Amino acid sequence: MVKSTGSRCLAPANQCDHIVPNNDHSPRNLQALCVACHKVKTQKESLAARRLKSRRLPPERHPGLL
Ligand SMILES: [Zn+2]
Repeated sequence: MVKSTGSRCLAPANQCDHIVPNNDHSPRNLQALCVACHKVKTQKESLAARRLKSRRLPPERHPGLL
């Protein structure tokens, strides 16, 4: 995998990764990654998704304030 720093990972790529995390399974949205790179990318994506989700949710009122 070509990292953002420009360095190339030399581990054998045996994981199929979605470049953009969605349901697009076409070859243009898929890339081969090694296990380590895939893990890092998946973790980053789930973190970003969680942050996005929490930002979109309106602040919950405290149940005691009803
Ligand atoms: Zn890698």
